[in-house]
Amino acid sequence: MEPLKVEKFSSTDRGNGLRASAPLRPGELLFRSDPLAYTVCKGSRGVVCDRCLLGKEKLMRCSQCRVAKYCSAKCQKKGWPDHKRECKCLKSCKPRYPPDSVRLLGRAVVKLMEETPSESEKLYSFYDLESNINKLTEDKKEGLRQLAMTFQHFMREEIPDASQLPPSFDIFEAFAKALLQSQGPPWMEVLLMFCDVGRIPFVDRVTLGSEVTDFCRE
Ligand SMILES: [Zn+2]
Ligand SMILES: [Zn+2]
Repeated sequence: MEPLKVEKFSSTDRGNGLRASAPLRPGELLFRSDPLAYTVCKGSRGVVCDRCLLGKEKLMRCSQCRVAKYCSAKCQKKGWPDHKRECKCLKSCKPRYPPDSVRLLGRAVVKLMEETPSESEKLYSFYDLESNINKLTEDKKEGLRQLAMTFQHFMREEIPDASQLPPSFDIFEAFAKALLQSQGPPWMEVLLMFCDVGRIPFVDRVTLGSEVTDFCRE
């Protein structure tokens, strides 16, 4: 892969951002990677393939959890490393199904526990994301506490206690990051996203030192 032409920066008033570190041509591809984690959201479950996110009338079901569905045996095989550990959790919590954010964070945690960092983390890692906990209302915080409890319950087969989580990983904080994510600029979604694949950043023209973040905002 070519060296990155964008760099991270942070400012006190606006938080994290990306800016060009070399002159860029219009339409130039700046970065491409699979997201750290993604999952099919409730509305699309059973309608699109869990791996490639394409819709198909007849999908094959995972014989273990009977939740994950795939368009082909090839997608099922490719999706297995990401699905393996959540599969047991999905199976154990049946007939209930976790909230989308809980399933998504479960997938993210599994990735963060792997020895080799994910491709997407070359640009921004999960730990770089702001949680902005101090800006949350008490109601929102209570909602996040509930999600954190649901997460622990959902993952208990694979992560029976919090000491097995990646070092410095805090479940409550992680949910705050994931929640803010949905309101963040689209390039952030490269790291962590639901199956909303339509909003991939399109960069039109960037000059040296300009903030890429601004170009990517909707
Ligand atoms: Zn597929
Ligand atoms: Zn399964």
